Amino acid sequence: MAAMREIRRNALTATAIAASEDAVETARRHLVQPWPFAGSVGAEARALIGEGDGIYITDGDGKRLIDGPAGMWCVNVGHRRKELAEVMYDQAMALSYNTPWYTMNAPSAELAERIAGHAPGDLSHVFFTTGGSSAVETALRFMQFYNNVRGRPEKKLILSRGGAYHGSTYLSASLNGRPRDRDWMDGADELIVKLSSPNPFRRPAGMSVGDFADFLVDEFAETVARIGAGRIGAFVGEPVQASGGVVIAPDGYLRRIREICRQNDILYVSDEVVTAFGRLGHVFASDDVFGIEPDMITFAKGVTSGYFPLGGVVISARLMEELRRSNHPDAMFGHGLTYTSHPVGCAVALRNLDLLEGGVLEHARQVAPYFQAKLKTLEELPLVGEVRGAGLMACVECVADRESNDPLLIDKDVGKRIDAHCHELGLLVRPLINMCVMSPPLVISTEQIDDMVAILREGISRTMEDLR
Ligand code: PLP
Repeated sequence: MAAMREIRRNALTATAIAASEDAVETARRHLVQPWPFAGSVGAEARALIGEGDGIYITDGDGKRLIDGPAGMWCVNVGHRRKELAEVMYDQAMALSYNTPWYTMNAPSAELAERIAGHAPGDLSHVFFTTGGSSAVETALRFMQFYNNVRGRPEKKLILSRGGAYHGSTYLSASLNGRPRDRDWMDGADELIVKLSSPNPFRRPAGMSVGDFADFLVDEFAETVARIGAGRIGAFVGEPVQASGGVVIAPDGYLRRIREICRQNDILYVSDEVVTAFGRLGHVFASDDVFGIEPDMITFAKGVTSGYFPLGGVVISARLMEELRRSNHPDAMFGHGLTYTSHPVGCAVALRNLDLLEGGVLEHARQVAPYFQAKLKTLEELPLVGEVRGAGLMACVECVADRESNDPLLIDKDVGKRIDAHCHELGLLVRPLINMCVMSPPLVISTEQIDDMVAILREGISRTMEDLR
């Protein structure tokens, strides 16, 4: 039986590889990829990925690569987990769908309870969505509803920061603060107030990290005072800005921002779409790593290790209680998704949580210091300005020279060049202009970390040759 499966698998692989040329060509004729450029929109497709196994993926040419970014920070327990495939099949055969409006299913109730058990403070109620953008969107629409019901319709503005990435639906995308995200796109700007990026590497010249923290906190407090707390509904922030280049704010800054929010009745939404479910070694990082208890936490990605599109918002019991005791018991939160509480997604997430609790989180905590220390050695290379990270996420930022740390004076495709060399050598990298982001599956071993860093070192060295 096992031999048969192996033969079938090999046959499928061979077919996939043979079909890879066709697939890329077909994609270029019909498939629109995310984040395309106008000049090649609809024809962006590049590398085909045929298979995944553990920390590895295989491209259309049959080349095995370490999955450096774990998909998009999501394949936390690794590829080809039979347990997750089986639970998907079993749940689809038992119940593939039910309307989440006036019926419910058992996996979603159980998952909500288990997530609440891990969430900090009184965060106890979960609204499930289809991914991260819809989770952020849900949290913000919930804030609007909450303030309307409480008779404060003017308390709606949202504070967000430079370098942030919160999604690609209209409101979540309006919060984004990475370079280029908004250049050609509209947004609900009238609802958003932007604050500085908390990136210590890019702090003003001559300023200490401690002074930078004070500057950020003062800016936050002054903005609240200037606009008026009565007009600000929420602050949304990633504990570690992921897509912005794994930005770790100065020590204590998040706790101080949390306190200002509490004093001013501004809801603190901790966007843990990347950091939750193990990336920093815990189910949630807000409290366990950063010591804050938000009013809402958004999550997605690692909740199913990317095997099924699922996300959600964990909401404070206090907010739910205030709504229940309001003067408007008939007010409806007019918000729902066809796939809210999807039974297959929730069943996969439950099994995924078993795997995380059953050893993967512990493993991630154990290998994280080694992962960070190994990557840090890349700072020996002149092209590398800084390697920074936390848990199993890190960013290698390239600069023109260490004197200026200037990212603009170097070839703007430096990340892509490193990615191309690393692909040759057996590693998929996630390039972000002048940065490479690494966030492998959490099951990575120390030997595999050695391989990954050796390839990255060689890829960067070859890029330095190119730029010479
Ligand atoms: N929030 C954060 C912090 C993210 O990194 C992302 C995606 O990378 C999102 C939200 C959006 O999630 P999704 O792509 O699942 O909609």
